[in-house]
Amino acid sequence: MKILVINAGSSSLKYQLIDMETEQVMAKGLCERIGIDGHLKHTPLVGGKPVFNEDVPMPTHSEAIAAVIEKLTSPEYGVVGSMKEIDAVGHRVVHGGEKFAKSVKIDADVMAAIEACIPFAPLHNPANITGIKACRDVMGDVPMVAVFDTAFHQTMPGKAYMYAVPYEYYKNDGIRRYGFHGTSHLYVSGRCAELMGKPIEELKLISCHMGNGSSICAIDGGKCVDTSMGFTPLVGLPMGTRCGDLDAGVIQFIMKKYGFTIDEMLNILNKKSGVLGVSGVSSDFRDLSAAAEQGNERAQLALDMFAYWVAKVAGSYVAAMNGVDAIIFTAGVGENDSDTRAAIVKYFGYLGVKLDKEANSKRGQDIMISTPDSKVKVFVIPTNEELVIARDTKAIVG
Ligand code: ADP
Repeated sequence: MKILVINAGSSSLKYQLIDMETEQVMAKGLCERIGIDGHLKHTPLVGGKPVFNEDVPMPTHSEAIAAVIEKLTSPEYGVVGSMKEIDAVGHRVVHGGEKFAKSVKIDADVMAAIEACIPFAPLHNPANITGIKACRDVMGDVPMVAVFDTAFHQTMPGKAYMYAVPYEYYKNDGIRRYGFHGTSHLYVSGRCAELMGKPIEELKLISCHMGNGSSICAIDGGKCVDTSMGFTPLVGLPMGTRCGDLDAGVIQFIMKKYGFTIDEMLNILNKKSGVLGVSGVSSDFRDLSAAAEQGNERAQLALDMFAYWVAKVAGSYVAAMNGVDAIIFTAGVGENDSDTRAAIVKYFGYLGVKLDKEANSKRGQDIMISTPDSKVKVFVIPTNEELVIARDTKAIVG
């Protein structure tokens, strides 16, 4: 079975074609500037075919999908003989609200439910819907599955997902913590249990997804019991450009003083805050480390704040789960930034965590970075959201 995994953004579309017999990625790629002009980078990973990296007109997502299918099946760049060899399509969908606790086969009712969640994810769900419709246009009635970023977090108990605001806002408007990065937390927690050689039902895990956007998840017995992102992906940890947790009074104060509209204020909190806002240097941890090494104090402060917040939130999840067996680092910063990992692990001395410095310096593999006698284990596990999407798609249509 061959499954096409699609992650559609408003002007971009990422894809992978995965052979589910071996779980090998046959080809991957990225369409960019959809609706502007259009560019496709297509990388075949089997058969020694060349990379295609050129402008291709893409007035809409339908032309983007058509270009992807054309490349996947072309004699020069292709990895399959025809579109018929693609058995199913798995779509990443950001928000499934309270309706979807699992991945689901897409039909008219599911499309309507994804549309009903647009107010919760006004930037993301419309793009995901456009990607699904474009696949329908180009690929006809191939089975399609929606995999939601929020689904894994639906097991949180009320005490974790409720906000302490009048109850009617939850009941009437769905105001609650939803959480994001669910497919990533699901993947790395499952992989961690495999690496530990224990059933996930017996483990208490804390997964730290640290990229441009960052979130932490408490996973007890394989189920999410709490997570740091909330109603939106703005809260929890300070991130590349997002503020993380913030006193709502600050918003009122700044808006009044500078005369900002709510959209202007949210633009600052989403795009100009986080480690970028504090450092004034960059949202990229590589730039922050370089600046800190040169003596830039605000860059060092931003790095210190990030490590502190990860440790603080993870510590609260140790309390929430009454213990922890392993802590996992994943995503761009989690997989690559050994200094940030070391700075975070320093806070876990009270848990009996001991860092294996040599293991911590390695990259690009699943690896335990705590010493064998460390009471709580620490792992780096490169995330693989596409594989979760492909596996769920196979399980549902297979
Ligand atoms: P996204 O949330 O967009 O998926 P990623 O998970 O790809 O982001 O993470 C991107 C971030 O990872 C970059 O902004 C940078 O801060 C960080 N990063 C990537 N490579 C390294 C590295 N070698 N060292 C430190 N940080 C890195």
